[in-house]
Amino acid sequence: MSAIEVNIHILLVTFPAQGHVKPAIRFARRLTASNASLLVSLATNEAIGQQMRDSGAAGSDEHISFETFSDGLSVVGNQLDADKFMAQLNRAGPEGLATLINDLQVRGRPVHCIVSNPFVPWVVDVAEGFGIPCAMLWVQSCAVYAVCYQSLYRLDEFPTPERLNIDVSLRGLPVLKTNELPSFLVPFGPYQCLADAILGHIKKIKKVKWVLANSFHALETEAIQSVSELTPIMTIGPLVPLGLLGRSTASEVRGDLWKSEDDCLDWLNTQPKESVIYVSFGSIVSLSPKQIEELAWGLASSGRPFLWVAKPVDSTSEFLLPTGFLDATAGRGKIVKWCPQVEVLTHPSVSCFVTHCGWNSTLETIAAGTPILAFAHWGDQVTNAKFLVDVYSVGVRLERDAEGVVRREEVCRCIEEIREGPRAAKIRENAMKLKEAAREALEEGGSSDKNLMVFVEDLISLAS
Ligand code: UDP
Repeated sequence: MSAIEVNIHILLVTFPAQGHVKPAIRFARRLTASNASLLVSLATNEAIGQQMRDSGAAGSDEHISFETFSDGLSVVGNQLDADKFMAQLNRAGPEGLATLINDLQVRGRPVHCIVSNPFVPWVVDVAEGFGIPCAMLWVQSCAVYAVCYQSLYRLDEFPTPERLNIDVSLRGLPVLKTNELPSFLVPFGPYQCLADAILGHIKKIKKVKWVLANSFHALETEAIQSVSELTPIMTIGPLVPLGLLGRSTASEVRGDLWKSEDDCLDWLNTQPKESVIYVSFGSIVSLSPKQIEELAWGLASSGRPFLWVAKPVDSTSEFLLPTGFLDATAGRGKIVKWCPQVEVLTHPSVSCFVTHCGWNSTLETIAAGTPILAFAHWGDQVTNAKFLVDVYSVGVRLERDAEGVVRREEVCRCIEEIREGPRAAKIRENAMKLKEAAREALEEGGSSDKNLMVFVEDLISLAS
């Protein structure tokens, strides 16, 4: 690293989870590729730092270094639930981050800009304490940002414990039913601790000099406009590997927290064109045994080849497939624990994606132009699914029954619907249009490229 003349050092703080590490690494890469005078340090807690080293996620990039800060927890054996973990991070994170910033200074790498993450609002205060300008990398959709903002300032009626199921009409957004709102904003919804963090960050937004969003303008024009009085949002996405959009690049650090079973690409090579159903629910969602059974038999009776990322929730549990399923699907199913998703989505054998609609998976699928079978669970996934199915019309929704289970017949019905017939043709056409719009946003002079350049030029003028 000594050969590089470092002028501007950006400390990019990421929340310790796969869905945050991936866009952070991709953003770091975009920054360093845009200007040779930028150096990025990507910082997360020690446990995830260790996991990144173990899986090779940290990789090597001479302009990007990987740093950790203490959250006061031991690196191994930390099994806190989400509420307790967030509370611990809020308590110990500020001091841990301040120590890192001082340490970087001592190592001759003073920080010129800190990039925060919506789940760690205290980063803004740490930056303020050091007098370092702060940006925020918003890692969900701008529609979710708009819902959070409008819910914070109660710009429309929101569900309450007394009136839970209502239609919510927000500026710049389609009418959202309660189960289409990010679940952390809904009374009794899962992961309420995320609402405290995200809304806490939006309350501090005036202290943030740049709000950068992993999205692109043509995808979310109205949602972006709906909050522009409060926050001009600078879209810089989709943060996907540029190779996915047909651009040749130096190989990118992938940022996987688990070892990827890349040989599934060899298996895909043996399958017919546009035949394989890709199934994955990201890094956190876990399916009930009943749901695994229904999905498995749905895939079996579809008669199509499939690639299924069946990841146990943690290292102590197993992903239990129903008895007889592997025999019934021998030769046309491949089950892995983790795969190179971006390469899978762009593989010519893949026809559609059964997804939980996490925002990274959503953007990767849009950028790949792959039709979607939306199977959202909670958080922002449900809002993303609403947009994918009803606004962008690039997918169909797997409907749950009264017990909240997607049955095998529904799995089969949706697979047929997305593959054959007039709706399937329209979905494919829309998916290709969105893919093109994503490519345009990122190309030189495109909306996201221009915003990135503005940010970089601001940084350069701050430092000079
Ligand atoms: N991913 C992957 N391999 C897999 C499953 C997921 O590389 O087998 C990646 C996926 O490409 C995405 C990230 O993990 O970049 C998951 O982020 P997302 O926001 O979709 O979901 P989350 O895990 O946060 O729920």
